[in-house]
Amino acid sequence: MSKRPEALHSFAAPVAEADVLVIGGGLHGSSSAFHLARRGARVIVLEADYVGRHSSGVNAGGVRTLGRLLPEIPVSLMSREIWHTLAETIGDDGGFVASGQLKIAESDAELDECRARVAMLEAHGFTHETVIDAATVRELEPAIAPHVTGGIWVARDGYALPFRTTAAFRLAAQRLGAVFHEGTPVSTIEQVGTRWLAQTPAGTFAAEKLVVTAGAWAGDLARQVGEPVPVHAEGLMLMVTHRVAPFCRSTLGATGRPLSFKQFDNGTVVIGGKLIGIADLPARHGEVDFARLVRSAHTVVDLFPHLRHLGINRAWAGVEAFTDDSLPVISPSRRASNLTYSFGYCGSGFQMGPACGKLVSELVLDGAASLSLDAFAIDRFDAKAIAAAPQADAVH
Ligand SMILES: Cc1cc2nc3c(=O)[nH]c(=O)nc-3n(C[C@H](O)[C@H](O)[C@H](O)COP(=O)(O)OP(=O)(O)OC[C@H]3O[C@@H](n4cnc5c(N)ncnc54)[C@H](O)[C@@H]3O)c2cc1C
Repeated sequence: MSKRPEALHSFAAPVAEADVLVIGGGLHGSSSAFHLARRGARVIVLEADYVGRHSSGVNAGGVRTLGRLLPEIPVSLMSREIWHTLAETIGDDGGFVASGQLKIAESDAELDECRARVAMLEAHGFTHETVIDAATVRELEPAIAPHVTGGIWVARDGYALPFRTTAAFRLAAQRLGAVFHEGTPVSTIEQVGTRWLAQTPAGTFAAEKLVVTAGAWAGDLARQVGEPVPVHAEGLMLMVTHRVAPFCRSTLGATGRPLSFKQFDNGTVVIGGKLIGIADLPARHGEVDFARLVRSAHTVVDLFPHLRHLGINRAWAGVEAFTDDSLPVISPSRRASNLTYSFGYCGSGFQMGPACGKLVSELVLDGAASLSLDAFAIDRFDAKAIAAAPQADAVH
């Protein structure tokens, strides 16, 4: 992409200027803004709706290193350490509870799968996941159905409150001088001379450096730079039950079927597990498909039969970005200078938010990150996948 000379661009004179513009005020944008501001950068965050409106504010809150794809594990482990010191880092613990995460096996074959996974991790030097037998599962979770044969346990994993965490990063960034503009959708980005310009209904914003953390809408912005990515949106669903007496302390997943399950202190149970509902990207809205939710309710009743008559209080869907290889894009642009991307977290980006913001700040300010991000490069997709990528509607 060639830079346009100052005189030829079609943008109005900037209404505000910073060192770094961040597009998207989800957890990744807010965390990036915090880490950038912490290092002295003047940051403006432009958010189309309000901070935490989408995936970052409505997710299941799972803080899970367990079950990660291999390339994500170093970042996820780095993030976990930040979760454990969140209160010292941003002044709020985000409601983080180190409940432990347990992925249960429901047959001997599934337990073999668990063993094979942990052996594979150990062969790569990772020892954070441990295989446990049926008796240990029952010690941890006495209410679980008797057919469970064992599982994988990670004691330092847990859960947190998504909206509170995202708001806490935003407030911490603001205390360091970052400025957030909500209700400010960016329609067009362009590098003009040494500055990035972002056009919004509130005027043009300018900065030398640009960070795109626009979640499921990021593909459109990357395409504007001539860097198409096979990223598409899904509406991920969750449901929350009425209150019930405490019966489960761990955050649960399953080996053979989709499940994410946790009971909060107030007695409610949040049930999910990458359940796909409906995503309406142009309307910026996710919608529940109740028929598909039923499958998940059956899984829960199989595992905890005493919940058979428990009512559902509410259900919702959030719009999430998925890539073709189930890994995010955390990468400098290969086409333009001073442009960094962080999006496409495929249903698992809440846990990674604290570390990814730090890594993005390193990419932006140092030109390199303290962990290898090669697996997340924006140009890793082959031409066929890019050609088949859905064409996102223009950003509104
Ligand atoms: C139901 C559900 C359950 C989940 N459960 C878990 C879980 O248990 N654990 C886990 O680790 N992850 C989970 N996730 C995934 C996690 O929530 C996401 O991966 C993560 O929040 C992505 O954060 P983000 O900042 O990249 O995106 P988002 O939160 O989507 O933020 C992107 C922001 O960019 C804004 N934006 C977009 N385009 C523009 C534009 N042009 N101009 C200005 N602003 C723009 C959007 O309005 C949005 O606020 C879940 C997701 C969902 C939906």
